[in-house]
Amino acid sequence: MSMKSWQNQRGFLFLKEERCKGCGFCIDLCPKKVLRQSEVMNAKGYHPPELYDVEGCIMCDICTEICPDFAIYRYRSKERGKNA
Ligand code: SF4
Ligand code: SF4
Repeated sequence: MSMKSWQNQRGFLFLKEERCKGCGFCIDLCPKKVLRQSEVMNAKGYHPPELYDVEGCIMCDICTEICPDFAIYRYRSKERGKNA
């Protein structure tokens, strides 16, 4: 299964492209509007999302919670030595 990932200073966003059913929920509900439909077509014939504004992603987890197919999720980098 192909896995995509993007990284910024806040963490990683992972996407299992083959799980995606192209519903677009993650794109619509991302508060930062940093996801869009990609040109890629997966084996099911759907276009998975892509993170086109990597730095704009705040690793908020909304896409993870909304995805019905557990296709997208984030790993948040831990702050080291800071309370912020
Ligand atoms: S983690 Fe949040 S900001 Fe990043 S793509 Fe998902 S919904 Fe958008
Ligand atoms: S919410 Fe999940 S299934 Fe729907 S487009 Fe996004 S990654 Fe694909």
